[in-house]
Amino acid sequence: MTVTASREQELLADVPTGLLIGDSWRASSSSATFAVIDPATGVELAQIADGTPEDGISALDAAVAAGDEWAATAPRVRGEILRRAFDLAVEHREDLALLMTMEMGKSLQEARGEVTYGAEFLRWFSEEAVRISGRYGANPEGTGTTIVSHRPVGPCLLITPWNFPLAMATRKIAPALAAGCTIVLKPAELTPLTSLYFVELLREAGVPDGVVNVVTTTDAKGFSSKVMADPRLRKVSFTGSTPVGQTLLKQAAENVLRTSMELGGNAPFLVFEDADVDAAVTGAMLAKFRNIGEACTAANRFFVHSAVAEEFGRKLTEKVRELRVGRGTEDGVAIGPLINAAAVDKSADLVGDALERGASVLTGGSAIDGPGTFFEPTVLTGITAGTRLLREEIFGPVAAIATFDTEDEAVALANDTEFGLVAYAFTTDLARGHRLMNRLKSGMLGLNTGVVSNASAPFGGVKSSGLGREGGSEGIHEYLDTMYTLIPAS
Ligand code: ADP
Repeated sequence: MTVTASREQELLADVPTGLLIGDSWRASSSSATFAVIDPATGVELAQIADGTPEDGISALDAAVAAGDEWAATAPRVRGEILRRAFDLAVEHREDLALLMTMEMGKSLQEARGEVTYGAEFLRWFSEEAVRISGRYGANPEGTGTTIVSHRPVGPCLLITPWNFPLAMATRKIAPALAAGCTIVLKPAELTPLTSLYFVELLREAGVPDGVVNVVTTTDAKGFSSKVMADPRLRKVSFTGSTPVGQTLLKQAAENVLRTSMELGGNAPFLVFEDADVDAAVTGAMLAKFRNIGEACTAANRFFVHSAVAEEFGRKLTEKVRELRVGRGTEDGVAIGPLINAAAVDKSADLVGDALERGASVLTGGSAIDGPGTFFEPTVLTGITAGTRLLREEIFGPVAAIATFDTEDEAVALANDTEFGLVAYAFTTDLARGHRLMNRLKSGMLGLNTGVVSNASAPFGGVKSSGLGREGGSEGIHEYLDTMYTLIPAS
């Protein structure tokens, strides 16, 4: 059922528009606000506080003030608060989903899926909060006992992107709170409404004042530089582009901050001659067209064995032609708008470059006239070496197919990138699958599947794709320091 305009207005009226610092919402210290825009229509959804770097320091003051008490709060209590937050997120699924569709553009169906995925981090880390264990043992010389323990790293700055407005926030907030850290959250300026709404749910779940602080701002750089220069901050966790991640890593060096960096991807999608082609097409639809192609895990380069390339391209094109484009609130829409005009220009440029270098269009290929920032779901074939989209993250609904003839060639092509977040491979040969697991230089591998994300698994990349892992039993350790105590034998 298509959502009514009055339902949208009622929901927007429930979203806080200020900065959450300590116990209350407040205006920016400059009184400035900025607009949040619906990318499907270009219409303004809300005006929200445009925080200053000084507001960042006030938020850090609050996080520091709440730090000791939160760290000393029983793990079970922290876990139960997170579990209540999970229940509330699920209860408010429709509101969270609609906000994401309105501010980011993805379809309501996908937005509901993101609520399920994003909420799961709250449940998962509610369970991990009570399993922060250590180690106890005699040292090899028999002269003493070693006790290894963990404690929260301290106040954390969490910087999130716009493409998964809820899940990228919960993937950081949940482990930080489970570990006993307090936080300053800076949501992406393009999609802050989901975080603002969600943070109210955290408060309702019982998160004490000062433990979670939120600053929205259009001055991401000035804000982060100021907060990161303050020695009381102990950690920065960032999801976004590699260039910004590199800047933050340099800034983090100044105060030797702990860092988690979930950066760009350039995922290869390999289809071998022994693959179930229909399954590969189903996987490709998810790996490429989920979230309008705006995911760091999106398949960026399709390498298909020449024996099945024609069949794969034809079947993929049939499915892509069925994708309905429109505002994500409309029934049956699969592909919403890209986040802004720059994203449309980028997809158009990359397609143009591929065509100039000899590729051909199987379907789509062009921007769609406004209002809204839409790009046609596209399949290109005959991609040649040197084409820009083999190097650059597309972040749009464009599938680009190139061919290979041997496994060695496929592996070399897949690994020929500075990135290493995720790879996808379709083969029915178990031994080959096992070899690929060892040979692909990537933090994650989807073997005969087009989606790898799961709260129980360690998400993250190698090389320029980042540092650290989010989710799994690994995720909480990003927010814990290790300490050891030596007690001499008596
Ligand atoms: P994307 O390509 O996903 O927009 P960005 O890396 O530009 O990726 O943005 C991800 C997040 O990083 C957003 O919250 C954005 O405001 C923030 N950001 C952008 N530039 C900086 C910066 N120089 N310092 C700190 N945060 C930044």
